[in-house]
Parts: sequence; C-alpha cells; structure tokens
Amino acid sequence: GLDITWAVDWVRRSAQVIADHRVELITLDREIGDGDHGENMDRGFQAVLPKLDDLAAGSTPGDVLKLVATTLISTVGGAAGPLYGTAYLKAAAAAGGAVSLDGTAIAAILTAARDGVVSRGKAESGDKTMIDAWTPAVDAADAAAAAGVDAAGVFAAAADAAEAGAVATEPLVARKGRASYLGERSAGHRDPGAESSALLLRAAADAAA
Ligand code: ADP
Ligand code: MG
Ligand code: MG
Repeated sequence: GLDITWAVDWVRRSAQVIADHRVELITLDREIGDGDHGENMDRGFQAVLPKLDDLAAGSTPGDVLKLVATTLISTVGGAAGPLYGTAYLKAAAAAGGAVSLDGTAIAAILTAARDGVVSRGKAESGDKTMIDAWTPAVDAADAAAAAGVDAAGVFAAAADAAEAGAVATEPLVARKGRASYLGERSAGHRDPGAESSALLLRAAADAAA
C-alpha cells in the first residue's frame, strides 16, 4: 500500500511538475481565461514544500492531504484554489487515519475528491472543466480497483484516463468558469484545470511506481 513516504513524494513531484508546466498552464488559461492558472498553482504547491518538513512523526497520508488542502485554499485563489482545496480536503477525510492505502482506498479517495469538486463547482461532465479529467480518472480507478489492481496501478489507470480526458476537452464549449464567457470561442483549446489535474494524477502514479 501507499504510505507517508509516498504522500510526501507525491507533493514534491506535484510541485515539480507544476513548476515545469507553469508556462504551459498560463498559455492554456490565456487562451480561454485570464492567464493565471500556472502562476496560481505554482504559488500553491511551492507554499506546501517547506511545510512538509514540519510534519509530526507518525503523520499519515491523510495528514499530508489535509496540509495540501489548507495551503492551496489560502494561497492559490481564483476558481481553482477552493476547488482543489475541497478536493484535497475530501481526499484527506476519505483517507482517514490509515497508515497505508490499497487500491480500493485510492479509488475511494479519488471518488471523494471528485465529488467534492462537483459539490463545490456544480460542473457536469462535458462542461469543459477539471471534472472532465477527474470523472474518467475516477471511473478508471474504480474499474482497476474492482479488478484487484494494486494502489500504484490504480493511480496509473487514473492518470492515463485523466490525460485522455484533458485532451478531450479541446473541442468542447465551456459551460462553467471564466472560459464560459467566451461561449463557442472556447472550443479548440484545452481546459487548463483539466490539464493540471492530469499532471497531478500522473505525479501520484510516478511517486507510487
Ligand atoms: P480563475 O478562472 O479564477 O482564474 P484558474 O485559472 O486558477 O482560476 O482555474 C481555472 C480552472 O478552474 C478552469 O480551467 C477549470 O478547469 C476550473 N473550473 C472553473 N470553474 C469550475 C467549476 N465550476 N467546476 C469545476 N472546475 C472549474
Ligand atoms: Mg485563470
Ligand atoms: Mg484568475
């Protein structure tokens, strides 16, 4: 199962991958939003890094997810800050105090995170938001866990599906968030939040591999 070492590694890899894709996320958001998504996410994850050193001995993956949640809520801002904050908060609650997370637990955590984003942002599938990465990821994670795949494999399946989901936002017309102000002109561009979601799930899979 995936333990505290994995959770801390996931956060470090998340900060790295967001920093590496900062300009790409800014460019995507400039096309259909206000161009700040890469900056917002980079600020948030860089703010988590020093806090990892203050984690108490005996901390669990759930404690790490909660630390990410509170930090993103206070530093990211915009639409994505509260949405990702809610995702990590619900993920932390689903993880509970478990020391190690198996494939079934990971599928439940991803479901809780996605449901948190939906309850906060009210987006449906096809609205061209991060939900279009999250819902295929949750479906793939559920199927993998039901087939007995281990936690690393569940994250790998989720990341593959999230990446495909992010690409599939390109032809969509946005119905939620800032991009929806563009109407039909939002088609032909990838949703930045779907892209960052896929990056974060890939980082989780890489940390688990
Ligand atoms: P802002 O739009 O406030 O500048 P960001 O640029 O950081 O915030 O984040 C934009 C991303 O947030 C979008 O690409 C989309 O994926 C996501 N988003 C916006 N509104 C919603 C919503 N209601 N539900 C789910 N995701 C949303
Ligand atoms: Mg923006
Ligand atoms: Mg903004």
